[in-house]
Amino acid sequence: MRPRPFADELFSSWFMRLAHANTQRLPYFSFHMTGHHNFWTRDPDRSLRAEVARALSGATGLPLDTIVALTLRPLVGRVIPTLPPRSQVRWVTPLNKRGYLCERPGLSFCPACLREGLYLRQTWRLSFVGLCQHHGCLLLDACPACDAPYAPQRNDLGHGQDWSVQPEPPFGCCATCGADLRRGDASPGDAPLLALQGWMLQGADTGVLPWPGQGDVPVLEGFDVLHQLLTVALTRGMQVHLTGACGLLGLKQPSARPNRTFEDHILPDRRTLLQHLDFLLQGWPDQFVRTCQAAGLPKSPLVHHLHPVPAWYGAVADRLSRQGGRPPPQLGSLAAHLDLAGLTRERDGAPTPSERRRWTILWHYHQGPEVATVARRLGVSWDLVRRTVTRYNAQGPEGIREVKRGRPSPRKRLLTAEQEEELRLALTTTPMSYAEMADWVEARVGRRPNTTTLWIYRRGVDSHSREGRRATSG
Ligand SMILES: [Zn+2]
Ligand SMILES: [Zn+2]
Repeated sequence: MRPRPFADELFSSWFMRLAHANTQRLPYFSFHMTGHHNFWTRDPDRSLRAEVARALSGATGLPLDTIVALTLRPLVGRVIPTLPPRSQVRWVTPLNKRGYLCERPGLSFCPACLREGLYLRQTWRLSFVGLCQHHGCLLLDACPACDAPYAPQRNDLGHGQDWSVQPEPPFGCCATCGADLRRGDASPGDAPLLALQGWMLQGADTGVLPWPGQGDVPVLEGFDVLHQLLTVALTRGMQVHLTGACGLLGLKQPSARPNRTFEDHILPDRRTLLQHLDFLLQGWPDQFVRTCQAAGLPKSPLVHHLHPVPAWYGAVADRLSRQGGRPPPQLGSLAAHLDLAGLTRERDGAPTPSERRRWTILWHYHQGPEVATVARRLGVSWDLVRRTVTRYNAQGPEGIREVKRGRPSPRKRLLTAEQEEELRLALTTTPMSYAEMADWVEARVGRRPNTTTLWIYRRGVDSHSREGRRATSG
């Protein structure tokens, strides 16, 4: 039996229907088709291995492209720039799996959609989809009866229950309590939220996001900025202001950890955050800028970690900088220590990320000596650009290279010069272990040194830097 996938079906859904249509238990069928026992402990919709896709194509006669199109892969280039197999990705909900178990919900569903067609929709894995675009109702991501995360594959995995003898595929049944998930009464969703979600889904389809007050924006750029606005909405100052002065609904489970992203929040809170986003987008960009000012937000959270910052959004963020009455610093052009090729060489050969960043700033500044433009393009502060350029102009390339490289540490030494001399003498007369050395030092200064410090004293060098090691080994 080779059931054809529905147009908007998720790969895992089609795979489960395939097993069910052939009256095979899911674990046996999965192992038979993939050769792996851990197929369901991963996220097959996110990372389907090429040889599994080829095997399925061979077994079902479906073209390889059709099978890959069922996974989340087609989102690449339309919603997300890349789809790594594991790490967190914007706009895609994580499944929060441990073995077969789902510790927190990740997949959502619409009871009315399940009544009309018993399969999983691709949009149910998108974090910004909180409503059913078709029925306008709230999506659910857990069983209304027992609150277990929605995970239909678990009906036929690890339980000892044989779903292959059931008349229908397992999507309408709670794997924990057996409740019929199709029966739930879906609450109607908020109309503006449905419009916002529809706008985003259409953007993902067409590749262009018609941004209010801005014109058409390439969809990936638009989605980047939208996610950034959600991060801005999640800052403490903004949450206080939005739920206080603006009278918007607050989060049910606000996070104590400040670095949690939109995808880490529960479905009802994601809907609330999307309402906050909708509020910020109204009358773009004036309402957004006004709200940021009222919430006391500076420019930096608006562009933090956003690479590259689109020019139109950067100009909006700059409005918050200038509100402080500070024009961008004017420094003039770069001193002629190195030409562009020299700067490129230094940048590409930089040993640390921070040094590479300083060379990158100079590389850009060399071609257009404007602090604000370079800062916006690289997503760094005006001040960092100013400090880097000033330092380079005054000190040349040496001022930019990693300051600590090969220089003795300026930190104070633990022992006085006399004590150090005494220790060196003791070391030459009797062999001492690190523990004995630590006892010796502790008896004199009252503090137990770590082994790095002891190493430095044993070698008689100034620091644990490469210079120190080279100096003694040579
Ligand atoms: Zn629906
Ligand atoms: Zn249940």
